[in-house]
Amino acid sequence: ILQVSSKVKSSPTWYSASSFSSSVPTVKLFIGGKFVESKSDKWIDIHNPATNEVIGRVPQATKAEMDAAIASCKRAFPAWADTSVLSRQQVLLRYQQLIKENLKEIAKLITLEQGKTLADAEGDVFRGLQVVEHACSVTSLMMGETMPSITKDMDLYSYRLPLGVCAGIAPFNFPAMIPLWMFPMAMVCGNTFLMKPSERVPGATMLLAKLLQDSGAPDGTLNIIHGQHEAVNFICDHADIKAISFVGSNKAGEYIFERGSRHGKRVQANMGAKNHGVVMPDANKENTLNQLVGAAFGAAGQRCMALSTAVLVGEAKKWLPELVERAKNLRVNAGDQPGADLGPLITPQAKERVCNLIDSGTKEGASILLDGRKIKVKGYENGNFVGPTIISNVKPNMTCYKEEIFGPVLVVLETETLDEAIQIVNNNPYGNGTAIFTTNGATARKYAHLVDVGQVGVNVPIPVPLPMFSFTGSRSSFRGDTNFYGKQGIQFYTQLKTITSQWKEEDATLSSPAVVMPT
Ligand code: NAD
Repeated sequence: ILQVSSKVKSSPTWYSASSFSSSVPTVKLFIGGKFVESKSDKWIDIHNPATNEVIGRVPQATKAEMDAAIASCKRAFPAWADTSVLSRQQVLLRYQQLIKENLKEIAKLITLEQGKTLADAEGDVFRGLQVVEHACSVTSLMMGETMPSITKDMDLYSYRLPLGVCAGIAPFNFPAMIPLWMFPMAMVCGNTFLMKPSERVPGATMLLAKLLQDSGAPDGTLNIIHGQHEAVNFICDHADIKAISFVGSNKAGEYIFERGSRHGKRVQANMGAKNHGVVMPDANKENTLNQLVGAAFGAAGQRCMALSTAVLVGEAKKWLPELVERAKNLRVNAGDQPGADLGPLITPQAKERVCNLIDSGTKEGASILLDGRKIKVKGYENGNFVGPTIISNVKPNMTCYKEEIFGPVLVVLETETLDEAIQIVNNNPYGNGTAIFTTNGATARKYAHLVDVGQVGVNVPIPVPLPMFSFTGSRSSFRGDTNFYGKQGIQFYTQLKTITSQWKEEDATLSSPAVVMPT
C-alpha cells in the first residue's frame, strides 16, 4: 500500500479512468510480518468516491492465505504474551509517535478511498490515536486485584491475562479510528490480532500496520486479511480465534454476533444508529443551529454518531427556516478540495439508497425543505454526491424515520413537550447517541436521566466518549456485554486468573487430611 500511496503522489493520472488496466495497484495481505501479494482469483475494485474511478484492487484472500494468517497469529502469541508489559508499552509509545508523524499521510489515504474531507480525515486518525495513547496506560489498566489474609497464611490475587488470537472486522466510515479501537488495545494486553479492514477502504489499515511494525511489534503479532463474507465466516468459525470485535451495520453485526457466539467466542458488535437531537426553546439558538448542522451533515452523514434526527420542542420549531439557511451554506466538494465541508457518499449504491429514502419521505407525506438529490459538483460530475437535505413534518411511522439513512439528511420531528420528545427517542430501537440542547440544568438532567440511550450529550452534539471511558452505545446499536476501549476494552481482551495461595510457617504442618470443603 506504500507503493500505492507513493504512486498517488508521483502520478496523479494513476487513478484516472484511462489508466484502468490489469496493472491497477493491488493491496497486499500482511502475513508473518511481510506484505504479500494475494494469489486470489477474486478481487474487488476500490473507487475514489469523488470520481468513481478505480484506484486499486483488494483481494478476497484465499483459504490458504487466511489459514497462514491465523497460524502466524497463533505462533506469535506465546512469546508476545510473555513479553514484559513494559516492553509492549514501549512498542505502543513508539507507535503513538509514528502515527502522529504520519497523520497527514494516513488522512490523505482516507480521503482518497473514503471521500471525507481532509480535515475530517485527520480527525478520524486523531480519535484513533487517542485510543493508542490510552492503551499506553496498560501498566495500570491491566492490574489485577489482591486480598491478603483471607484466612491464616492465605492470600488471594488475580491477574488479567490475554486471551490468545483476537480478530477485528471494520466498517468503511472510519478507516483509521475503528481499526485503532481494536488491535492496539488487544495487542498491548498480550494478544495477537487478525484484522479484516473494510474492503472499500483498506489503505489506512495497511499503512497503520507498517507503522506498527516500524514501532517494533514482532512479526506475526498483527496479521491482515482482506475480503467479504468468506473472510468473515472464516473469522466467526475458526477455533483458534477467541474474540471478535465488530463495527458496522446491524445486518452484518447481528449475524457475526450469533455465528461467533455459537462458536464459543466473545463478540462485541457496535452497530447502526438513529441519533436524536432534542432542541428546547430555551437553548442558545446560535450554538444549537450550528451544532445541529455540523453534526447532521459533517462526513456527509456517514457517522454512526451523526445527529440525523432533530426533535424541535415547542417554540423551537420556529427555528426551522434558519436551520435550512445554514445547511444551504455548506460547501459540497471532493474531500481534498480546499473549503469542502462535506464530500461524497461511499458508493453509487449508497447514493441511490439515500435518494430513495428521501423519495419515501415525499411519498409518505413529509416536506422536503432542502433537497440535495440533484446536486452537481463542478469537476466531479461522476462522484456520489448528495447535498444537505432537510425533511420536516416527519412522523415516527415513516420509512425515512425508521431506517438509518447514513447520508447528509436531517429528518425533523416536532413535539409540544420534553416528555413527548423522550418518548419518541425511547421508542426508537437504536440507542447509540443522543443530545439535548437547553440552557436549563434541570431539563438537561431530566433528559439525561430518563433517556434510554447509551451516550448522551448535553449541548454536545456528538458525544463520543474519550478513550479513558468506553463507547457505550446500547439497545439495537450494540450486541455483547463489554464495550470498546477504556476499562471495558481491557476487560474484553483479557481473562482473569485468580490464585489462592498459602504459605505456612514450618511448625504449622497439617496434622490430618483435610477432607471437608474448606470454609
Ligand atoms: P457493513 O456492515 O456493510 O460492513 C462492516 C464489515 O462487515 C465490513 O468489513 C464488511 O466486509 C463486513 N460485512 C458486510 N456485510 C456483511 C455480511 N452480510 N456478512 C458478513 N460480513 C459483512 O457496514 P459499513 O457499511 O461498512 O458501515 C456502516 C455501518 O456501520 C452503519 O450502519 C453505521 O452506523 C455502522 N457503524 C457503527 C459504529 C458504532 O460504533 N456503533 C461506528 C461506525 C459505523
